[in-house]
Amino acid sequence: MSRETPAPEPVATGTDAGPPFAGCVLCGEPTGYPESARGVTLCPVCEWREAERTACSG
Ligand SMILES: [Zn+2]
Repeated sequence: MSRETPAPEPVATGTDAGPPFAGCVLCGEPTGYPESARGVTLCPVCEWREAERTACSG
């Protein structure tokens, strides 16, 4: 008699806090940068706006 052992199911954690991305320093939205990223982290939107602002200034 072979006793079949059920495959271990992945334990679903109750906490769904989202990916460990660093928050945007301007709006707080999660960025594409990891929390370990150094320097100023901006979300794609703020990053784009900053880039445009920098490009227009001068
Ligand atoms: Zn932002």
